[in-house]
Amino acid sequence: MELMVKTVGAVVKEQAQRFPEREAMVYPERDLRLTYAEFDKETDRLAKAFMGMGIQRGENVAIWSDNKPQWLLSQFATGKMGAVLVTVNTNYQAAELTYLLQQSEATTLILDEGFKGTSYLDVLRSICPSLATNNSSQVQCESLPNLKRVILMTEKTEPGIYKWSEFLQHAESVTDVQLEERLETLEPDDVINIQYTSGTTGFPKGVMLTHMNVVNNGNLIGGTMKLTSEDRVCIPVPFFHCFGCVLGTMAAVTHGAAMVIVEQFDPVRVLRAVQDEKCTALHGVPTMFIAELNHPDFSKYDTSSLRTGIMAGSTCPIEVMKQVIGDMGASEITICYGLTEASPVISQTKTDDPIEKRVSTVGKPHPHVEVKIVDPATGGELPAGEPGELCTRGYHVMKGYYNNPEATAEVLDADGWLHTGDIAKLDEDGYLDITGRIKDMVIRGGENIYPREIEEFLYTHPGVSDVQVVGVPDAKYGEELMAWIIPKEGASLQEEDIRAFCKGSISHHKIPRYIEFTESYPMTASGKIQKFKLREMSRQAAVE
Ligand code: AMP
Repeated sequence: MELMVKTVGAVVKEQAQRFPEREAMVYPERDLRLTYAEFDKETDRLAKAFMGMGIQRGENVAIWSDNKPQWLLSQFATGKMGAVLVTVNTNYQAAELTYLLQQSEATTLILDEGFKGTSYLDVLRSICPSLATNNSSQVQCESLPNLKRVILMTEKTEPGIYKWSEFLQHAESVTDVQLEERLETLEPDDVINIQYTSGTTGFPKGVMLTHMNVVNNGNLIGGTMKLTSEDRVCIPVPFFHCFGCVLGTMAAVTHGAAMVIVEQFDPVRVLRAVQDEKCTALHGVPTMFIAELNHPDFSKYDTSSLRTGIMAGSTCPIEVMKQVIGDMGASEITICYGLTEASPVISQTKTDDPIEKRVSTVGKPHPHVEVKIVDPATGGELPAGEPGELCTRGYHVMKGYYNNPEATAEVLDADGWLHTGDIAKLDEDGYLDITGRIKDMVIRGGENIYPREIEEFLYTHPGVSDVQVVGVPDAKYGEELMAWIIPKEGASLQEEDIRAFCKGSISHHKIPRYIEFTESYPMTASGKIQKFKLREMSRQAAVE
């Protein structure tokens, strides 16, 4: 597959020509359906509304909601008129939102009324009390000097804030020709998206991605899944993360497939959407697939339409992959590996790779992507079979972190290699295996232990639903292992059962010294387990 030197807007226009009557966007719970022709028209209208408000190419527009239709339309509309969509994590609270809006210098904020018990409007009003007396066309907020306008996704009347219909009215002041002219000034190398990395490791940084980055990554991902305009992709992963807006929406649109959206993850809503909409693909982080497969009503839903999909975001346990293939019927499910800074996908399993490779590796690097494994201490390249830091280079590497050249220089070297912080090894056949993060590696009595290996082993215990392993400080060995296990419903697991299961099957030093049972893990909104929080909890638990 060749690289596409195209803007997001050009891609939408092309697909509307090729597949005008095929469904582009489906919200089963709203009975909202747009064909590609309608999707093109509606995103044109939003693009004009942004232009009508005076938003320029390269201007930063933040968006804060779950997977609402307005979010999806804004993604492609900003792509058409050249604004930069700054995606905001749905779990954010006041301090995080303030930081993001200040750091990104966003001039515009689009938001929903709230999400999961947090009133976004209250949060915004606490940051910008002056909104109460502002006119919506002239917002002035002391703590956010760049903010000029706020747009609400609903029709609620709020001082200082445009209602959605008021925002749409701005489209009327812009002609088709003006929009076309704007589209033609855009360059594929323009930044159109800033995503703040999930913060599992520290302060969020704004990853700048271009049309080239996301269009090509989406196209190659969809191509590897063999997506066509016949496919229907169920997207329950959040839009604000690249899993939603690149592996989900961009991969579907570049192939003319339908996007079937679940606004907030819930296992039953996902299963229902798959069944009712006859989805052929389903995306999810491992914990989502686990929740669907283990749901007591799983067998009541017909998932036989599933062919493919993507599991990604963190280690994909072999057992869970096998269940997705066997029990859900997604026989061509793929695993992707990557990180936001790489658009995000670096490698992906193919639908026809040998089954062992499809469940136990993260596939081979995508076309047009270079990969090398280096010794983190010396930077020297390592041969196949040896674990080291994965570095990557190519079209997919971000432009840098927004307004943060120091942080950019820490991960992007002078030769264009992105240092991922992930430990990986390449096998003899060129498949990648992610064995952990540099920071997750546990050193017990001088032995390097990759928690992933022990997690994979413990997953094979029939009473284990999910498991995470971390290191805790230890006076004698430096570090000891602690396993946090979520038992399967109805299983009565004891520490001794787990120890007996390990004994004789894995080396003594890999048997976790501490075993804890829990019902859930600390998670980010994008579904990643926050190992740094788990490590803090483990330190506490080990002392008690
Ligand atoms: P993010 O930038 O939020 O997408 O997080 C990227 C990180 O998620 C990577 O650096 C990996 O540590 C992890 N990750 C993503 N996909 C996988 C995968 N398939 N297997 C293991 N780890 C993964």
